[in-house]
Amino acid sequence: MKKQLIAGNWKMNGSLASNEALLKELLAGLNSPVCQIAVCVPAVYLMQCQKQLAGSAIYVGAQDVSAHESGAFTGENSVAMLKDIGVRYAIVGHSERRQYHGETDAVVAVKVQHALAAGITPIVCVGETLQEREAGKTEEVVKRQLAAVIHLNGHCISEIVVAYEPVWAIGTSKTASPEQAQAVHALLRAQLQAATSHADRIQIVYGGSMNAANAAQLLAQADIDGGLVGGASLKAPDFLTIIAAAQ
Ligand code: PEP
Repeated sequence: MKKQLIAGNWKMNGSLASNEALLKELLAGLNSPVCQIAVCVPAVYLMQCQKQLAGSAIYVGAQDVSAHESGAFTGENSVAMLKDIGVRYAIVGHSERRQYHGETDAVVAVKVQHALAAGITPIVCVGETLQEREAGKTEEVVKRQLAAVIHLNGHCISEIVVAYEPVWAIGTSKTASPEQAQAVHALLRAQLQAATSHADRIQIVYGGSMNAANAAQLLAQADIDGGLVGGASLKAPDFLTIIAAAQ
């Protein structure tokens, strides 16, 4: 049976000392988890976390990958470099990258292609803004974002993780209701089913103010296969509660 995935997105937070303390508390509190677990940490701390989590049930993920293989791309990290240090997952197309770094659907699709080629599982983020939701465009937006990824990666699309992250719910404490989230997940599942006979294997996780109090209800929905957790992943007790709520 497909396991759920709980992935933390630390965003641009942490320090050597606070990372060590957070991971120590997480490792001590893990109680035979039945789900897959990852923490997506700032690039500068990947090796630190990799070392501390070696042999544990928690995988390390990056928060982005370069759309290029190597060369004159100052500040970027290639998938080969990430693979070299044992990175297992990479968030791709997070709304903050789309919004602040101008990442288009086409760029996100290329990044997914690079990650898959390197054997890194991309956690592909899609989601609508509040304006788009209020204009009744949620379905159109998320399908367009996912279609670009399917178009370029159709042959190995069953290797991706999809994260439905309504932009209006990220870091706002305005979580999508379980029904709202499930409705979009079902749409995304249908879109994947049209692209591959293995769509049921694909984890479609929800992100957007998931926390210790609302995780169980969200994770109980038929097409919600885990969570991408921002703020609550920085507090060990909260992240552990979300992990315990996963199936
Ligand atoms: C995220 O950044 O992917 C996210 C879901 O953040 P938060 O949980 O803080 O809304």
